[in-house]
Amino acid sequence: MPFSLLGLSTDLCAAARAAGFKEPTPVQTQAIAAVLQGQDVLACAQTGSGKTAAFALPLLQRALEDAVAGRAASWERRAHTLVVVPTRELAVQVGEVFKGLAQSLPQPLKITVVFGGVSINPQMMGLRRGTDIVVATPGRLLDLVDHNALALGAVRTLVLDEADRMLDAGFSEELQRVVALLPQKRQNLFFSATFAPAVNALAQSLLNTPLCIDVLPKPGSVPDITQRAIAVDPRARTQLLRHLLQHSGWSRALVFVATKYSAEIVADKLRKAGIDAEPLHGQLSQGKRTQVLDDFKASRIRVVVATDLAARGIDVVQLPVVVNYDLPRSADDYTHRIGRTGRSGEAGLAVSLVSADTQAHWRLIEKRQGLAVPMETVEGFEPTLNANVTATTTATDMSGNGGVKGKRPSKKDKLRAAAHAAALPHA
Ligand code: AMP
Repeated sequence: MPFSLLGLSTDLCAAARAAGFKEPTPVQTQAIAAVLQGQDVLACAQTGSGKTAAFALPLLQRALEDAVAGRAASWERRAHTLVVVPTRELAVQVGEVFKGLAQSLPQPLKITVVFGGVSINPQMMGLRRGTDIVVATPGRLLDLVDHNALALGAVRTLVLDEADRMLDAGFSEELQRVVALLPQKRQNLFFSATFAPAVNALAQSLLNTPLCIDVLPKPGSVPDITQRAIAVDPRARTQLLRHLLQHSGWSRALVFVATKYSAEIVADKLRKAGIDAEPLHGQLSQGKRTQVLDDFKASRIRVVVATDLAARGIDVVQLPVVVNYDLPRSADDYTHRIGRTGRSGEAGLAVSLVSADTQAHWRLIEKRQGLAVPMETVEGFEPTLNANVTATTTATDMSGNGGVKGKRPSKKDKLRAAAHAAALPHA
């Protein structure tokens, strides 16, 4: 179905085409017309589904209509559209989608991205002449309101993106404060990948007869991610990683480690071996984190060595490989990490390095995934410590062949899916 059949104007259809979108994704097909008509939307969707453009395209169209009709909010120091997100990275990412799509529109629209962890002054200056669309993390948004840099009384549409992560991050109180500052009569768009009771309660309290959309992958329908495990001594992991990067033809790789210290050390060792690598962790300045992500997305650097903290919300198109240099703490983190690859229908590869001391933990992750991943070794890197790590095969080709694909839904998954379906209010 073409974008034009969803009610998007010629300008917005052209913007979607210019962004490389040939046809709408399922969440876009279902959401765009409703958003254009001002209806509330409750969408179960995760990063990778095209959810950002599902709200950005119609909201830009409405902002453009306002601008053309001389109703722009920008001069009033008020925004008509407020998008609240849980992290700085997501704020930047969502802001880029809005700005990218707005770039070719006949009338300029002002899109402002604000988040904490950086000086508030430039953000206050940036809001001086008002803005059409604000993308914000909750704490900084409230700070700006407290500084009278922004008023929320004219917001027509509130978007809560990744609401589950917002509550996980402890933003419940801030969200209540933000909502109290908004006009009672407004449109609400609510996006979340999970519907725990607290998320559901928030949705119920905010939404008014919403259109319900569920585009989460169903249990059993899994992305095309090959999972492999390599047995190796802990001390040989960096050399093995280097070897894999040099011999496996991976164009880019996202490597996960447990600490910021490891991120620095491993990236440094790779760089010394002539491999373009940068660390990414929560102690880097926001500017540096954004730059590393931009460079990685644009393939200017080949390897990012990241902690879980910094990796949340990363959306890198065509990322072929994720490496677990250190295993994640939980099976949920494992799912989250490997989900960085194999996006938008591409094939992906997840390689986990397993040592004698982490083998029991690896078994737990496997069990939770409902998988049995054959333990492999790489010639020259066979583990010598404690013969516990029992490799069954020798890896020769790490291009994505071999390994195990997918995930069988466990009993828990099925129960969770049933609870999730039952929790969703239906319009
Ligand atoms: P999101 O779920 O918003 O994080 O989007 C994930 C990725 O899908 C982004 O890289 C978007 O640029 C891309 N994308 C969004 N909509 C489309 C579309 N209709 N066709 C192709 N790619 C898209």
